[in-house]
Amino acid sequence: LTPAAAPSLPAPLPVLGRDVTVPLASGGEITYAALDYAASAPALQRVWDDVAAYAPYYGSVHRGAGHLSQVSTDLFENARRTVADFLDCADGHEVIFTRSTTDSLNLLAAALPAGCRVFVFETEHHASLLPWRNSDVTYLDAPRTPRQAVETLEHALADRDPHGPALVCVTGASNVTGERWPVRELAAAAHAHGARIVLDAAQLAPHHPVSVRDLDVDWVAFSGHKLYAPFGSGVLAGRADWLRAAEPYLAGGGASRSVTRRTDGGVDVEWHEGAARHEAGSPNVIGAYAIAAACRALTEAGFASLVDREQHLVRTVRDGLAEIPEVTVLSLFGDEAPRVGVLSFVVEGWDGSRFAAALSAGYGIGVRDGLFCAHPLVRTLLGGDPRTPGECGAPENAAGNAPESAPGEKPLNAIRVSFGAGTPDEHV
Ligand code: PMP
Repeated sequence: LTPAAAPSLPAPLPVLGRDVTVPLASGGEITYAALDYAASAPALQRVWDDVAAYAPYYGSVHRGAGHLSQVSTDLFENARRTVADFLDCADGHEVIFTRSTTDSLNLLAAALPAGCRVFVFETEHHASLLPWRNSDVTYLDAPRTPRQAVETLEHALADRDPHGPALVCVTGASNVTGERWPVRELAAAAHAHGARIVLDAAQLAPHHPVSVRDLDVDWVAFSGHKLYAPFGSGVLAGRADWLRAAEPYLAGGGASRSVTRRTDGGVDVEWHEGAARHEAGSPNVIGAYAIAAACRALTEAGFASLVDREQHLVRTVRDGLAEIPEVTVLSLFGDEAPRVGVLSFVVEGWDGSRFAAALSAGYGIGVRDGLFCAHPLVRTLLGGDPRTPGECGAPENAAGNAPESAPGEKPLNAIRVSFGAGTPDEHV
């Protein structure tokens, strides 16, 4: 691949990932290999079909004795049970439907008990890095091995008052490197020091079974749109106590059991205690139903076969990239961590955005470029200092794109390839 040759080559039919044929604005059409499951995994056809099968029962939930509302409510509550089973939650755990992983973690941040300290690695996706900013948060330096991650956390936790509440937030799998984090060990470290732990499973859940009990995490968050359901719904599941003690995330109908006018002119509210406490407003029933359908589809397909396929694809790309001397695959843990079907790389002398544009225009291969909502992590991986914005990975422009490096300069942004489950005809 040379900068001059890449964009002018004809588009061969791609052989990997999901092929989609899209019309071109200039007329005609292009067949395109979409290797970007980590941004959003296309909904599985059977999830779409399940959602269509729900249509005759379309009704608002928890809103009365009407038949459609009753059936809809049953389907909504069944969806909660399906998700609880999918995550292997313990008895008494709450499953709250949210808009996304970002929403789930912001909900938990709003429910922290007074004086709670939060510990989070600087390498997290912004969804798990930023919600704690108004709390007493400690950002932990990027570890370079899984063992170092556990030691760094233990060291930080040992320094705190063991009697106060504390929360650790950690990702299950990186949406940049695809590397899996040692979640069970981090959970054991958190609990040994009297802290709790929430798992950001947005990138792990589509690729690997997540068992709340086996990993021994206190909460888990994930998004429907990365798990082969459509956009707009997410989950926060786990221990009920902090959530029940907290003010509702949103104030409104559905979260309130009783509202009375006081004689002094004010209003008294009795809030629900269960999941409804944090689901005010008319919930996204179809989103919840679609997430449950995706959980069923993945469970029935079996993670083992899904993982085999994507591991094969990601190995093929890694082996191919290894033959190109200009390419560096980004990694925090080297060969020490298992990976899901996601990897990012840089090409010497090439800006990531221009390289991705060349892959798209020249080869019909759709990848993702940029900093992947994990700026400190990508800066570290590109050899910069996460504390020096200008040095490596300057701020995004108004369109949300990372700035381009000049030809021949050190790349300011990376290129990501990601795979998922299902053959192309199984997606919408
Ligand atoms: N965490 C990780 C690891 C992610 O990959 C993503 C999505 N890219 C998120 C959190 C945020 O998910 P959402 O945008 O659906 O809220």
